[in-house]
Amino acid sequence: MSEILELEDITKTFGGIIALDGFEGSVAADDITGLIGPNGAGKTTLFNVITGALDPDSGTVRFQGEDVTRERAHKICRKGIARTFQTPKPIRSLTVEKNLRVAHRFGGSDSTLDEEELYQRTLEFFDLGKKQNVRTENLQLIEQKQVDVARALMSAPTLLLLDEIMAGLTPTEKIDMCETIKQLNSEFDIAVLLIEHDLKRMRSISDTIIAMNNGRHLLTGSPTEVLEDDGLQEAYIGK
Ligand code: ATP
Repeated sequence: MSEILELEDITKTFGGIIALDGFEGSVAADDITGLIGPNGAGKTTLFNVITGALDPDSGTVRFQGEDVTRERAHKICRKGIARTFQTPKPIRSLTVEKNLRVAHRFGGSDSTLDEEELYQRTLEFFDLGKKQNVRTENLQLIEQKQVDVARALMSAPTLLLLDEIMAGLTPTEKIDMCETIKQLNSEFDIAVLLIEHDLKRMRSISDTIIAMNNGRHLLTGSPTEVLEDDGLQEAYIGK
């Protein structure tokens, strides 16, 4: 099993707050990997460090064997790491089509697929054809989240980071989103690293789960190994 992403001894502080404290972990190229941990564990900060939104104080981010630590965000995106945010971030005043094309210019211009090919493939995948001329501020939450993932796909990523993509969705929408993520992983060969608080969904979708707490790696394993571990229960209860 090859690792697409390796994180070595990552530390990030904000003033006196230690958000990441020597975090170690890796993501397999073929997998859907879940990242879990109590509120404030450092999950989103880790995403920010991986994607170049934040520089770590120390440590190394290796993507496909290459050291990408402190690379600028658009360069990391062009190398193949795309992301979504906790709150959907399409440009609200732009149409679905403009959002997707802008995303391609930010992160996809090094892709072997051209813009038109990616646009048509992405539109079809999400069945967004009828909405392409609608401004995203007029879309429902689930559609805004689909546009967020669609924007990420416009850079033809090999690793997709999803930050609480299912938050706020109905149970049925969550099941649909899980199916979408599985399809992206199997049909488009995209490795996925996702943050999710709904552990039931996490168990059903993940090949591997990484648990973290207090900015540190806690354990990695199959969903059953991790979710039934006593150390994890303690981290959540706060013993
Ligand atoms: P949640 O599940 O609640 O989203 P999380 O695991 O994603 O939490 P982070 O958002 O990464 O955790 O936060 C880790 C710690 O770093 C928290 O104590 C948080 O308050 C702090 N933190 C994160 N970003 C900043 C910032 N820009 N400035 C100051 N402190 C920050």
